[in-house]
Amino acid sequence: VSRRERVSADPVIVVGGGPVGLVTALLLAGYGVPSVVCERAPRRETVGSRSICMQRDVLDVLERVGVGSRIARAGVTWWTGRTYYREHEVLTITFPEQPNAAFPPFTNLGQSTVERMLDELVAAQPLVDMRWGLTVTGLAQDGVGVTVTASTVDGRPVDLRGSHCVAADGPHSTVRGLLGLDFPGESFDDQFLIADIRARLPFAAERRFFFDPAWNPGRQVLVHPQPDGVWRIDWQVPDGFDLAAERASGGLDRRIRMVTGEARYEVVWVSAYRFHQRRVPRMRVGRVLLAGDAAHVMSPFGARGLNSGIQDAENAAWKIAYDRAGLAGPGLLESYHAERAAAAEENLEVTGRTMRFLVPQTETQRRHRLDVLGGSVHDPAVRSKIDSGKLAEPFWYLDSPLTTPASPAELAAFPRAPGVARPPLPGVLCPDAPILDGGRLRRLFGPRPHPTKSLRGSTGNPQFVVLAAGGAPGLPARVPTRVVAPRELADDGRLAAALGLTGQGAALIRPDGHLAAVLPDAGGLAAALRRATGW
Ligand SMILES: Cc1cc2nc3c(=O)[nH]c(=O)nc-3n(C[C@H](O)[C@H](O)[C@H](O)COP(=O)(O)OP(=O)(O)OC[C@H]3O[C@@H](n4cnc5c(N)ncnc54)[C@H](O)[C@@H]3O)c2cc1C
Repeated sequence: VSRRERVSADPVIVVGGGPVGLVTALLLAGYGVPSVVCERAPRRETVGSRSICMQRDVLDVLERVGVGSRIARAGVTWWTGRTYYREHEVLTITFPEQPNAAFPPFTNLGQSTVERMLDELVAAQPLVDMRWGLTVTGLAQDGVGVTVTASTVDGRPVDLRGSHCVAADGPHSTVRGLLGLDFPGESFDDQFLIADIRARLPFAAERRFFFDPAWNPGRQVLVHPQPDGVWRIDWQVPDGFDLAAERASGGLDRRIRMVTGEARYEVVWVSAYRFHQRRVPRMRVGRVLLAGDAAHVMSPFGARGLNSGIQDAENAAWKIAYDRAGLAGPGLLESYHAERAAAAEENLEVTGRTMRFLVPQTETQRRHRLDVLGGSVHDPAVRSKIDSGKLAEPFWYLDSPLTTPASPAELAAFPRAPGVARPPLPGVLCPDAPILDGGRLRRLFGPRPHPTKSLRGSTGNPQFVVLAAGGAPGLPARVPTRVVAPRELADDGRLAAALGLTGQGAALIRPDGHLAAVLPDAGGLAAALRRATGW
């Protein structure tokens, strides 16, 4: 099939107009790719506020679709998480400033607000055809495209033809079922009561986690700041907990008063959840890619759900754009599964460990929790074993077929524990650096100036970036690449030093900002680019 024949005029069909579906459609639009978004709901329905915590690198992705700064401005940004056991503060973590990062480590803003912002962008984007009230019921593939069958609110059948399909239809995904995929994993019996409370409280903008406080003995409570004086309070409650009965008996008010004291409060939203740890065995089936909760669900401690769903969207979008443009090798779409299933597996392992600490299922796990919490009061060495949630971070595609691997010694030494600093080996998200651009700097947060143009900002179109002092000889002209010399970066040589780039060395950065290769000699770039595009 020639390149010309493979270029498709059909749109991409996105199933699900939740945040992951909308970000996928907007990223595709940024790459010039049209899409049709099928959303079952006739209009935006607020299902509580669900996600509140957005991670910094995910805001970078959202900035590329036009909303990262807006979220950061509207939300509460925070750097510090505190953990208490009974009346003792046993662990305090302050996330370090990252040189040249555009955003603070975490920003809290309710998912419903984020969805409304995304809705506005989608409504203004001519390349996205948003179809509210369209429920997908069938799907067929024929090797060159997909046909999606759907039904309108009044029962009218609609057939849509697309080049690819992104299934972002949430935890009860129809598309997953249509593809015959299981959703194996585990579910937890304990419930979590989650309330957003508006009250004037004298608390700092920090994440605070209380194990076994006097006011919820034997269980735990998480308190998170949100904008407009709203606080997310998350109580662990036993199996059999009945929210209606709790409200009627005044128990809910008593619980809230334990946190708010005498302050007046208003319940913005309250719901009880059970959490599940599940993932689909395949995230790509032919031209269908599953993303977000359709592909994986996990407990929210660590904020890894939506954050990783947006990273799925980003991974999917450039690969689909390349496939449609005839630039993808036979392995590019399949690499979506390799990379994002590995990320989902990591997220499930990390959140699974957290759940076993929060809701121990066996006597050994109960003992471990008690020993760690009890010991942490006096023994600082035990404190790192407290697990109240390990916060979201980008995955490292070290073993991806697209990555020109680092040396065995570097790979063996790569730190894989959650939350530690990752050396910029091939596969890791490349640290950002400002690109000199006529001195146009702006101030977003904190004391440092934040550049308008940065290396990561420039990966917002589906081009590879080559970082090389001596040029990039032999690169095929048809793959869009931008060559940046280290001297064009206003970072005092920090990135080039971290990458170990000297003389003829070069780094290849993918359209999603991940390093595809770090080479001692730019002569290896053409081979690395072939590999990174799935050939
Ligand atoms: C209490 C709670 C707190 C959380 N906190 C965080 C957090 O702080 N940070 C974080 O990252 N994540 C958090 N999460 C997880 C986050 O809410 C989810 O990961 C996120 O909603 C997933 O988005 P999605 O677009 O994949 O799926 P959804 O939001 O479920 O959207 C799927 C969409 O598909 C539509 N749909 C379904 N079937 C069809 C069909 N057949 N045809 C057409 N449309 C269909 C649905 O109507 C829906 O609009 C939290 C979750 C909960 C419950």
